Amino acid sequence: MPDTLLLQDLDRAHVWHPYAAMPGRDAPLLVESASGVRLRLARPVEGHDELIDAMSSWWAAIHGYGHAVLDAAVRDQVGRMSHVMFGGLTHEPAIRLATRLVEITPEPLEHVFLTDSGSVSVEVAIKMCLQYWRSRGRTGKTRLLTWRGGYHGDTFQPMSVCDPDGGMHALWAGVLPRQVFADAPPTGFAADPDPAYCAHLADLVERHAHEVAAVIVEPVVQNAGGMRFLSPGYLRVLRELCDRHEVLLVFDEIATGFGRTGALFAAGHAGVAPDVMCVGKAMTGGYLSMAAALCTGEVARGIGRGDFPVLAHGPTYMGNPLAAAVAGASIDLLLGQPWEAEVARVGTGLRTGLAPAREVPGVRDVRVLGAIGVVQLDHPVDGPAAARAAARHGVWIRPFRDLVYTMPPYVIGDDDLSTVCAALVAAAEAG
Ligand SMILES: *Cc1c(COP(=O)(O)O)cnc(C)c1O
Repeated sequence: MPDTLLLQDLDRAHVWHPYAAMPGRDAPLLVESASGVRLRLARPVEGHDELIDAMSSWWAAIHGYGHAVLDAAVRDQVGRMSHVMFGGLTHEPAIRLATRLVEITPEPLEHVFLTDSGSVSVEVAIKMCLQYWRSRGRTGKTRLLTWRGGYHGDTFQPMSVCDPDGGMHALWAGVLPRQVFADAPPTGFAADPDPAYCAHLADLVERHAHEVAAVIVEPVVQNAGGMRFLSPGYLRVLRELCDRHEVLLVFDEIATGFGRTGALFAAGHAGVAPDVMCVGKAMTGGYLSMAAALCTGEVARGIGRGDFPVLAHGPTYMGNPLAAAVAGASIDLLLGQPWEAEVARVGTGLRTGLAPAREVPGVRDVRVLGAIGVVQLDHPVDGPAAARAAARHGVWIRPFRDLVYTMPPYVIGDDDLSTVCAALVAAAEAG
């Protein structure tokens, strides 16, 4: 296909990719179509013209590609309207989605702000918390507290609570708001909370409560910050500290939501409810960009009692009907099947299939939680070499830092899952 080379040249010349230099250095693979768990490439790579997507397109495509139910939801909605403004107008897909989100998230979360991306939902969550305290006359509460090792998105407020040792803080010193950072939490999903670390959290929350509006964390799994699994017990500790010291608690469930960790939301592992919660990524089944910030009645009422009683935020494409319709369909599809058993099946396959990685020289840790499989090396991964090794097995991965990992679509079959695991082991050897 002669167009392929031309398209790749144009891509390199004009199209910015995530975390990339311009003009582009390594040519991205040109994808022609996607179906089930497979990406079809315009040009074969390592002898394969299809790759199994072990990334679920950044953890979003939980039902795979071209799912008949989701395709139909989009098509049906296109037939009615693709978009109308959300100021002064409303529509059934957004109303049904918001109601559904309230039903399936922890009890006190009652109000839903739909946004166009995860980062913006974190911006809105932070705005809710800052404005809540401002409206209550506590104008000194302007900072956020988080633990190191997190990731909350790429716009400026979310960046300010990402792990400060990642490159972005050094680059933006003097520009980013200065937040309060706890040490990185000790790892291990099954471990009991470490008393010394809990004391460290208690000390920080207590000392900074007068200036801190909210604690914001990823519950149970720190994702793009390092794929670290944490004891759910820390969420109970944070809930108790926040209540005691009048600080709001925000859970960023953008990566963990909709079953990925084995619970519908990771907060469910701890039985703890936040005051504000962000969801995104898998919410639309990977079809369209939409996220949401949910808050309790108390937070909404607090904002409403202020001199400026509205939440001043309103993206142009807020509540986009196409995205809302497919999100509603994706959630129904998930909950209408034995999703816990499916996620557990994927987890079992990952545990078995990734076990051989423990024997690979240079591998520091192999861990699985829900439908997340991680191979951690004792050195920074050679990303391109690792991705090539996986492609030789017909699998698409995108390693980062010292991590080779997979978050496959829940619908992946057992044979494909074995292939993904073999590809990860090969990638760990090559990387
Ligand atoms: C991906 C992610 C975000 C940012 O979402 P975008 O849709 O990429 O803006 C925020 N928080 C977490 C935990 C994420 O994984």
